[in-house]
Amino acid sequence: MSVFADLVGQDEAVETLRQAAASAARIVAGTATGNGAMTHAWIFTGPPGSGRSVAARALAAALQCEREGTGCGECHGCHTVLGGTHADVRFVVPEGLSIGVGEMRALVLRAGTAPSGGRWQAVVVEDADRLTEAAGNALLKAIEEPPPRTVFLLCTPSTHPDDISVTIRSRCRVVPLRQPPAEAVAEVLVRRDGIAPDVAAWAAAAAQGHVGRAKRLAGDAEARGRRDAVLAVPRRLTGVGACFDAASALIEAAEAESAAAVTENDTTERAALEQALGAGGTGRGAAGAMRGAAGQLKDLERRQKSRATRSQRDALDRALVDLAGFYRDVLVTKLRAPVPVVHRDTAALSAAAAEKWTPESTLRRLEAVLACRDAIEQNVKPKIAVEAMMLNLWKG
Ligand SMILES: [Zn+2]
Repeated sequence: MSVFADLVGQDEAVETLRQAAASAARIVAGTATGNGAMTHAWIFTGPPGSGRSVAARALAAALQCEREGTGCGECHGCHTVLGGTHADVRFVVPEGLSIGVGEMRALVLRAGTAPSGGRWQAVVVEDADRLTEAAGNALLKAIEEPPPRTVFLLCTPSTHPDDISVTIRSRCRVVPLRQPPAEAVAEVLVRRDGIAPDVAAWAAAAAQGHVGRAKRLAGDAEARGRRDAVLAVPRRLTGVGACFDAASALIEAAEAESAAAVTENDTTERAALEQALGAGGTGRGAAGAMRGAAGQLKDLERRQKSRATRSQRDALDRALVDLAGFYRDVLVTKLRAPVPVVHRDTAALSAAAAEKWTPESTLRRLEAVLACRDAIEQNVKPKIAVEAMMLNLWKG
């Protein structure tokens, strides 16, 4: 199956990438010097779940495809890129809240060498909006004077200067991705993951166009349970005390969700590092090695802590997106807007709320959820932001 198959509902972007990869293959074959379809730096933008990293990975695979850059999905080149083991394709995934300059410099240095497979060196930066300023500058230098066979693929939510610097943006071609329609997401769950059509349709709508989240909702009972708890929040807000209880519950659920995801990974990493350090022996220089070891363990702990914080915030943000969906449902029901509700399973509740609340107070509630997301993004302590939101949701 083509490497572009998972780019759901993104025909225009896929066409751009296909042409780029075909042009890149002709450059490698020496039959063309480039006709503008291929370029050295790309930015993939779009809302979470629209497939930014899927698109970047697909282009990286097509660049290594052995069948004239078609991105066949079957040759060795396509396979190894999609599996994350191709020697000439590197992925930068921030473990914590940001991507540091050290990591970026090392990457840029390696990306400057000639591709071992004779095609292209590709660097995929997921979450390029989390580059530190220094890391961004290191990347900019490489993009300004790219080695002839090196390609940078950056993923960010938007091209707003908060997400990516204006100078980097000006050197890149932008591929905008849109939120895929629920039907397209459902179709991919059925075809790719073998999920029953009715479950796929429900999960695609509930996930609001986020392919990965739709898959989790369809297949993971715990994820469904957490979503149910979030959607129960509006009817639990009966007084000030209930607001604080609901805030604590929401935050604890996010912590529990991220803990389950992170702990196993942390333990494996620490064991691997301790084993590597333990192999140092007790000979001359061992004392120095031990001091170095303590530093490395500290460094690992710092990175793990930062990664846990990020993971908790992501879990909390997913909950807030679900909650915003509920108030949006109330609003579209109230206004009789000709669009389907996000949460079909709470349609009766959102309809009842639409009877009771004015459009203005519903809008204030929706805004309270969005303000809470913004506040957390601006580093307000989650507990404080969520408590303020709950009070506003109760008051309306
Ligand atoms: Zn291929």
